[in-house]
Amino acid sequence: MTQTLYSENDLKKVVAELAAAIAADSCGRKLLLLGLLKGCQPFLADLCRELSRHQLVLEVEYLQVSSYVGTASSGQVTISQVLPDSLWPGCDVIVVDDIFDTGLTLKSVVAHLCEKGAEKVRTCVLLRKEGCSRVEMEPDYCGAVIPDAFIVGYGLDYNEQYRELPYIKILAEDEQN
Ligand code: 5GP
Ligand code: MG
Repeated sequence: MTQTLYSENDLKKVVAELAAAIAADSCGRKLLLLGLLKGCQPFLADLCRELSRHQLVLEVEYLQVSSYVGTASSGQVTISQVLPDSLWPGCDVIVVDDIFDTGLTLKSVVAHLCEKGAEKVRTCVLLRKEGCSRVEMEPDYCGAVIPDAFIVGYGLDYNEQYRELPYIKILAEDEQN
């Protein structure tokens, strides 16, 4: 049975709150939002639209990152770096991802950016799974905490399906094959 966790309206509210928190901490500085593909896409687009209501200068870039196979983290984070190293020094970066589960993805990306010369890196996730973290870091901005379940929709996939849903639901066992 389908269990909707966040409706379109719920998501809109959560994203607006995150944008307000980021804007309040950023004091009109120039920000580089760095989205982690592919799951960040609807969230990052909506976050940008909400941030446009605040006095900020924004740039958007993406990194391709993967760690999940089916419904479980492989524990191995692969980053496909396609951005020039010259981007990072002096840049106020916010890494944007859909969900913080084990935390290994965000931890690897932050370490990678610091190695490349980024000076100020913050992290923003729409959701965090309760009790699943395997790292010491916490996301700087987190929209909501959810129970440990496999979710899809609003960019989150199951074997590349369901990303198009405008809401987030728990994937039922009979939908997993
Ligand atoms: P972490 O590295 O924190 O374990 O996982 C982060 C990545 O795993 C997320 O960017 C996301 O792509 C994927 N992921 C984690 N939990 C879920 C989930 O419940 N559903 C889906 N579709 N992807 C997830
Ligand atoms: Mg991801």
